[in-house]
Amino acid sequence: MIHTDSHSALNHTPLPAIYPLIDTHTHFDAPVFDNDRQSQAQQAYAQGVRHLVLVGYLQRYFSRLYETQQAIEQMHLSKDKDRTDRRDVYPVAHIALGLHPFYIEHHTDAHLSSMAQMVQEQRPLAIGEIGLDTYTDAMKQPEVFAKQERFFKAQLDIAVRHKLPVMLHIRKAHAEALALLKAHSYDAHKLGGIAHSFSGGEQEAKAFVKLGFKLGVTGQITNHNAKKLRRAIKAAVDSYGIECLVLETDCPDMMPIMCKKAVDNQSTSQLDSQSANQSATGQSPDNEWQSTDGHNRNVPANLPWVLKGLSELLEVEPKVLAPQLWQNSCNALQTSWLCPT
Ligand SMILES: [Zn+2]
Repeated sequence: MIHTDSHSALNHTPLPAIYPLIDTHTHFDAPVFDNDRQSQAQQAYAQGVRHLVLVGYLQRYFSRLYETQQAIEQMHLSKDKDRTDRRDVYPVAHIALGLHPFYIEHHTDAHLSSMAQMVQEQRPLAIGEIGLDTYTDAMKQPEVFAKQERFFKAQLDIAVRHKLPVMLHIRKAHAEALALLKAHSYDAHKLGGIAHSFSGGEQEAKAFVKLGFKLGVTGQITNHNAKKLRRAIKAAVDSYGIECLVLETDCPDMMPIMCKKAVDNQSTSQLDSQSANQSATGQSPDNEWQSTDGHNRNVPANLPWVLKGLSELLEVEPKVLAPQLWQNSCNALQTSWLCPT
């Protein structure tokens, strides 16, 4: 039974229409895109992606976020020289700055203060990704977890000080994160915010939405074996409506299942756990995504497949869902980007 579903999903049937979309969470600055970033940006635009957010995780790569943003702006400029119609052909890139909990051992207080300085000077779109992660045993150690909590709070303080939304990365620490957020003055109802690549259960999903966060939906939603995730998203929507969701690719991770290649000998459940392990956050920062070859990386142009998967799960037509998700993203990121018609 499972295979009927997943095999039909693996048929890469064309999407019926293109809708304007916002990719709220990417690592499009990663070196795995260095060889073809321009054509990938173009393909993303052709698939409807109008804005994408480059999300920070280690202080040493913050400058790479800005270089990537500038490179994409440069594409817009060079395009003007060659083209006479002057239509936009690339998404607009935005930046979130944050020190990721998975890399807690790499962060120092100097990184925190230089980040605070950068936020002051550059005013990024958001603070992220920040949060708590106890995916490995090492990260459950009290002193390691205490450091995660300290950095999480300090970055929430920065968000409050500058009235910026946050992008949360919470993995296997939902109760602790909720408790910390409830005790903190950060108010997502006022400042926005996204629980990126949401992975908790039904009650946790509803609890984050109740606090004012949107839930970030990735390509994992296209995997019919990701039952806990699908139930959680559905439960949140049953209680709060489709207003509580935003889309993201989290590229180069979280490939939609119909975009995966060479899956013949793997069950979709293996793929599911593989995706979790392959998370950006599961790679060592020194060789990030090097094992992700060109054929097995997720790309911003895959975002419509996330829309399709969500549309099928919720039984809401893409033409209804897409404009609402656009609005939700603007609300979560405290922007008022015009939705092209
Ligand atoms: Zn991420």
